[in-house]
Amino acid sequence: MADIFYDPDADLAKLKNKKVAIIGYGSQGHAHALNLRDSGVQVVVGLREGSSSVAKAKEEGLEVRSIEEATAEGDIVMILAPDQVQRSLYAEQIEPNLKPDAAIFFAHGFNIRYDYIQPSAGHDICLVAPKGPGHKVRATYESGYGTPAIIAVEQDASGEAWELTKAYAKGLGATRAGVIKTTFTEETETDLFGEQAVLCGGVSHLIQAGFETLTEAGYQPEIAYFEVCHELKLIVDLINEGGITKQRWSCSDTAEYGDYVSGPRVVTDQTKSAMRDILSDIQDGTFAKRFIADQDAGAPEFTQLREKGEAHPIEQVGRELRKMFSWNQAADDYQEGHAQR
Ligand code: NDP
Ligand code: MG
Ligand code: MG
Repeated sequence: MADIFYDPDADLAKLKNKKVAIIGYGSQGHAHALNLRDSGVQVVVGLREGSSSVAKAKEEGLEVRSIEEATAEGDIVMILAPDQVQRSLYAEQIEPNLKPDAAIFFAHGFNIRYDYIQPSAGHDICLVAPKGPGHKVRATYESGYGTPAIIAVEQDASGEAWELTKAYAKGLGATRAGVIKTTFTEETETDLFGEQAVLCGGVSHLIQAGFETLTEAGYQPEIAYFEVCHELKLIVDLINEGGITKQRWSCSDTAEYGDYVSGPRVVTDQTKSAMRDILSDIQDGTFAKRFIADQDAGAPEFTQLREKGEAHPIEQVGRELRKMFSWNQAADDYQEGHAQR
């Protein structure tokens, strides 16, 4: 059984007299800064020059500094910029300004696991990886609940790194839900695998293939959208509540029988063998190298793939249909976020 920690297992007093520098104020950054602040922790936000987030963070009453200044003030420095920029951000703006005994925190193990960042021996290296998007991490905290997280320590220079990590997770609200002990390697490899093979890559391509199959057979795109995409959330909610068994219990016997006989025709031995190949590319660093090389070159492959994804016919149909859903507030959020990007 995994080691799981809850509120009583973590002591916020470990963060007393310590200042937490949150570098970045995006999806995770705003949630960490605000949740910690509301938990009574001293927080300073570090942002790049000319950042459009300065005003947003100040509006919330947060102290905002340059990345260099915030780092210099931080007893804990949590790096919440995108993974692909962390390497140069760390080398150029963070490392030269770190207190000699500052603890360095991450929300994903990527840069430590693949050695893009190699902090010197005096620093604790800690991980608090929330298992949810930043906006949910903030919203659940505000409503009195928490988002679960997984935590790890790669380097325990102070001898207190685990206590510090648990305290941080408590300030974030994560120990309200439960926090599981892991390692940087396990977190990084399983996170990348989950998002590639199942959650993002697997699901989005499964939806697209289902949509293509129905529309190519002459069915209306609007109907296809409902059948292979819209209802997915309802199914996933049931799985989230009570596992696959609850989902099968709730849907019709016809659907359940179809699940058993047809599911294995879609997800075959070949699919699993592809999953093993994906995992092996993650484990041996092939995926990381490809991602970072493309990013370093200005992201030509990434940009082209994003444009191709956005041009898929299901996106157009979905945009029109979602306008019908007056109850679907998230549709507007998405459109705003989309325009900003
Ligand atoms: P975002 O893309 O939302 O972060 C954007 C922030 O990083 C902004 O404040 C932005 O500055 C800043 N930033 C971007 N580029 C630079 C740069 N070159 N130099 C300095 N600052 C920069 O990141 P996420 O919150 O998605 O991810 C942060 C970390 O959290 C990653 O390690 C990720 O893997 C991890 N994580 C993310 C999850 C999520 O929900 N998104 C879930 C769990 C972990 P500006 O405001 O000026 O634009
Ligand atoms: Mg993940
Ligand atoms: Mg991830």
